[in-house]
Amino acid sequence: MNALAATNRNFLHASRILGLDSKLEKSLLIPFREIKVECTIPKDDGTLVSYVGFRVQHDNARGPMKGGIRYHPEVDPDEVNALAQLMTWKTAVANIPYGGAKGGIGCNPRELSISEQERLTRVFTQRIHDLIGIHRDVPAPDMGTNSQTMAWILDEYSKFHGYSPAVVTGKPIDLGGSLGREAATGLGVVFGTEALLAEYGKSISDMKFVIQGFGNVGSWAAKYIHERGGKVVAVSDITGAIKNPNGLDIPALLRHTASTESLKEFHGGDVMDPNGLLVHDCDVLIPCALGGVLNKENAAEVKAKFIIEAANHPTDPEADEILSKKGVVILPDIYANSGGVTVSYFEWVQNIQGFMWDEEKVNCELNKYMRKAFCDIKAMCQAHNCNLRMGAFTLGVNRVARATLLRGWEA
Ligand code: GLU
Repeated sequence: MNALAATNRNFLHASRILGLDSKLEKSLLIPFREIKVECTIPKDDGTLVSYVGFRVQHDNARGPMKGGIRYHPEVDPDEVNALAQLMTWKTAVANIPYGGAKGGIGCNPRELSISEQERLTRVFTQRIHDLIGIHRDVPAPDMGTNSQTMAWILDEYSKFHGYSPAVVTGKPIDLGGSLGREAATGLGVVFGTEALLAEYGKSISDMKFVIQGFGNVGSWAAKYIHERGGKVVAVSDITGAIKNPNGLDIPALLRHTASTESLKEFHGGDVMDPNGLLVHDCDVLIPCALGGVLNKENAAEVKAKFIIEAANHPTDPEADEILSKKGVVILPDIYANSGGVTVSYFEWVQNIQGFMWDEEKVNCELNKYMRKAFCDIKAMCQAHNCNLRMGAFTLGVNRVARATLLRGWEA
């Protein structure tokens, strides 16, 4: 089942639980607007190359649409559509005043020079500049993009509309980015994990963790888990995987990856088969990379008792069923990874206020939002006798449905 079919299925399940009217259901499911653009740039050697870019604006009932822009070879319209829809439910679960959107370009940024990435980003911005904006649609980084990408979008957008830092979030600090934004998704994952474990009378220091992906989410999550006394027994990135049953020395690993950009040749662990990582012995598994990694091929073999979905849609519906029969507790993506977009909201607020918060305030507010959303999800689980995924979906869908009805249908 592809990402869109899986996301639609979860939405429809939530809609049935909530008893939504079929017209409202249809209007919530279908994206507000889907944009597809061609971006042709000269490569450094002078030859021309074309890429296809997408921006799917899913819903704006609760506020401007919000979501990342992904540069990855596997970007396709269905996936961007699914991710845009997930953003709508995610911002509603977090209770921040946004709708949902997602963008992407089907390219491999690792094969593009910095100047090629800049040209591609500027051309993409030229194609979509009149459809984004502070109160319309606010992009942010995602896989394959970062604060530099946001700086180029801001600069290009400003040529058409005047200097408007709040048009993107996840910017460099020097251009109005927020302190704590880089770490926010990983830190939010850890706050969410603490809230979940507390329900079971446990804390991070009691647990053994496996982390799939050591990029901007996985590496920060590992740092904060280690600081709280949790044992990270295995991690992977696109170059391979390493394990250490006594717990990896995360500060040393972070120093290593900062200088080499890969886990390779780290001496504090043994190399392992990355395919075995998701089924490696641990208490808590945190997928922080691509979608669909937990599926019917491997779900039955998972050893973890808790799965924290730091990636977007890492668990397909078949795996969801197998894991739930095994009694594995899953903290769903639209809650678990919402720390990134929550601090994006703080960044947007700071830009509009023209006032910069210190990092302590950012992290403290993030913790408050994560705890509140967890309580709200639990209340939905109790009201509808459902698992955490459906608790989060019913919470998000219900908030968006209410906003839609309040705004009305009159054309
Ligand atoms: N790309 C991140 C996500 O999937 C952050 C989006 C944002 O900050 O707007 O949630």
